[in-house]
Amino acid sequence: MNSTHNPLRLTLDGDALVANWRWLRARGGTAACGAAVKADGYGLGAIEVTRRLAEAGCRDVFVATWAEAEALLPTIGDASLSVLHGLAEGDLPLAAALPARPVLNTALQVARWRGIGAGRPCDVMVDTGMNRLGLSAREVGEGVLDGLDIDVLMSHLACADEDVPMNARQRSDFLAVAARVPARRISLANSAGICLGEDYAFDLTRPGLALYGGVPRREAEDGILQVVRVEAQILQRRRIGAGDSVGYNATFVAGREMELAILNIGYADGYLRGFSGTGRARAGDRMLPLVGRVSMDLVAVDAGGAPDLREGDWVELDYHLPAASAQSGLSQYELLTTLGSRHHRIWH
Ligand SMILES: *Cc1c(COP(=O)(O)O)cnc(C)c1O
Repeated sequence: MNSTHNPLRLTLDGDALVANWRWLRARGGTAACGAAVKADGYGLGAIEVTRRLAEAGCRDVFVATWAEAEALLPTIGDASLSVLHGLAEGDLPLAAALPARPVLNTALQVARWRGIGAGRPCDVMVDTGMNRLGLSAREVGEGVLDGLDIDVLMSHLACADEDVPMNARQRSDFLAVAARVPARRISLANSAGICLGEDYAFDLTRPGLALYGGVPRREAEDGILQVVRVEAQILQRRRIGAGDSVGYNATFVAGREMELAILNIGYADGYLRGFSGTGRARAGDRMLPLVGRVSMDLVAVDAGGAPDLREGDWVELDYHLPAASAQSGLSQYELLTTLGSRHHRIWH
């Protein structure tokens, strides 16, 4: 990291990350607990995340693309790496060269893998209702997978964050397919699926969101710790009078004299406009509500309750994921993956 002044930082709690992984592993009973680190570790940094989880004992890492796999290979030690998007024609050179497994999703991908795989194991996705990626039960019945060396046979839950009959239906459809496929391991649960109970864990779970502090269901509220903290520096303090407006389109008009602090963060940093009028910063235990619209690189907060804060001081944006999701209308996934490249990422 160079020494350029950076008025915007993410502090990332490595102990909380590992504690979340251990909590998820314990919820899965005897199942192994993997980690989904696609999209650069949901925005935290896939290499830093994977190194910590591999040291803690995580042995199954999932990425979306072969480029993500290539970037991670030096980090994973003896853990295994699976590529969720499978095997496009253009992936063949990397797939032939790298010791990662494709998650085969279509009959064409299976045929490609037979062409280059010779002896190496693969993973397979079967669709049980997500209708996104994966082979159908009918294709499996027709023998598309016959003779493949399959390590993990998996499916993906569509509504595991809700209590709906679809969860149990996907589970039983998955088991019906799995009974016909000689895979070494079977895997169904993402973070929310792990919360559904050990019945959903099978041999291997694949959490993403909850590793990073996301709370997909009530069951995780007390177990999952916040990993990401967003902090920005105060660029300016100012006093405004009754009738003065703040920010673009003057959406906020002060009803009284107020003290504002202008913070070095905005939607170009992933702090999106959904926080306008609802987001909060904090200085110690004092809340500083956002005032007016979020700009590209700036927001204003009401600093009346913190008269000691000055230019150059750091404040923390409220980024506890469930609360920030309610404030902004963004999903917890979006809150993580939109965090921009301008943040200085500091692991503790
Ligand atoms: C992203 C992903 C996961 C992780 O899901 P979370 O909801 O983030 O826990 C698991 N399995 C598959 C197939 C995925 O694409």
